Amino acid sequence: MILKQSGSRGFRAYTSKHLDELLKRAGLGEEDRLRIRAVATVLPFRTNAYVVDELIDWSAVPDDPIYRLVFPQADMLPAHDVERLADLLRNGASTAEINAAAHEVRMRLNPHPAGQLNLNVPRIGAEPVQGMQHKYPETVLFFPKQGQTCHAYCTYCFRWAQFVGEADLKIASDDIGQLIAYLREHPEVNSVLFTGGDPMIMGEPVLRRYIEPLLELEQLDSIRIGTKSLAYWPQRFVTDPDADATLRLFEEVVKAGKNLAFMAHFSHPREMEAATLQQAVRRILDTGAVIRTQAPLIRGINDDAKTWATMWRRQHRMGMVPYYMFVERDTGPQDYFAVPLARGYEIFRDAYASVSGLCRTVRGPSMSATPGKVCVDGITEVAGQRVFVLHLIQARDPELVGRPFFARYDPRATWLTDLRPAFADRFPFETEVQPARLSA
Ligand SMILES: *Cc1c(COP(=O)(O)O)cnc(C)c1O
Repeated sequence: MILKQSGSRGFRAYTSKHLDELLKRAGLGEEDRLRIRAVATVLPFRTNAYVVDELIDWSAVPDDPIYRLVFPQADMLPAHDVERLADLLRNGASTAEINAAAHEVRMRLNPHPAGQLNLNVPRIGAEPVQGMQHKYPETVLFFPKQGQTCHAYCTYCFRWAQFVGEADLKIASDDIGQLIAYLREHPEVNSVLFTGGDPMIMGEPVLRRYIEPLLELEQLDSIRIGTKSLAYWPQRFVTDPDADATLRLFEEVVKAGKNLAFMAHFSHPREMEAATLQQAVRRILDTGAVIRTQAPLIRGINDDAKTWATMWRRQHRMGMVPYYMFVERDTGPQDYFAVPLARGYEIFRDAYASVSGLCRTVRGPSMSATPGKVCVDGITEVAGQRVFVLHLIQARDPELVGRPFFARYDPRATWLTDLRPAFADRFPFETEVQPARLSA
């Protein structure tokens, strides 16, 4: 196999070009492989030698959770779409023809949930600022242009639109000056979150260009980096040529009096077993940075309480702080991976109940939806009616944070939009009664 290699990092990316060969390793027949390749024309596929050789248990494929985490599945998309794309591949259709068909399928997949492209666009004067989101008063998200890929892609990723060649779907900027100007106009912002993609895909000199100017801003308490690199390429902090320089950069952030919060995405306890990962965690913590962990709850990958309890305990032992359990978002293959809210709540509760108080820093299950982060606190009976008890952990409107509200119990609901208010004609974050509900 000829692999993409970058410098002396030893990092090798496998892309859709290598998919067929990798699927043969999974022992899949020709028709199965073709249907999976058809899905990979629509949803991005990328993994690497570490994930393939160290994380996946090939004897357990196709049920292995890490295999399911990175390899597309034939039933992730509607069957008729998969058949049509598989036919095109089978008949040797041109790249242009395949891309056109794939584009059509993508546009039906809700590529930007929660109004991401138009709701949170910040402005300086009347000018929209590219590559930023400002949804909650104290936190700004920044998408560095060079950070718009990952060491491997998760099949359930809600940001998949960032990785396919659809220019209109991308959010990114390389203008740190604009971010600084925006922050000076918004002294209420005390936290900048670098996200992507994965900012840790950037080499140290580029990362430094984004981070260093922020250290001058007195208003900032924290700089966060959202990343899956610890799980997918821990070498980034141990043996990569710029590993030491990166750790020095983290140290400088801490010395400047800021909290460097490394927001690590771990989906499964298996990702925490490798010796390289353990070294990477130790080295990052030694800089004075804090590692907080988060992941979505995904059917067929981590949808049981024991997996979460094991994950939180292992993280805790290593000095990481469990932060969020997310509900899989309403985008792309959500139908395929979704766990009903009622079941998600049970999993969270059972896992939470079985760990020490020191792990109970975690919150969830939480939906990052248009009005904010909605947490499912429980299922109970009030005045003879079975209901979900919910609250907003984060909200566009801070007035709503931390106030309980109710929704009618529905065992099949998988997202906020499936829920109906209980004891009220609208949810607290709705300004008017939803027209669809009047006729219901
Ligand atoms: C989760 C999230 C944040 C950070 O929220 P915290 O509760 O402070 O972790 C910021 N912006 C968006 C859009 C988010 O989804």
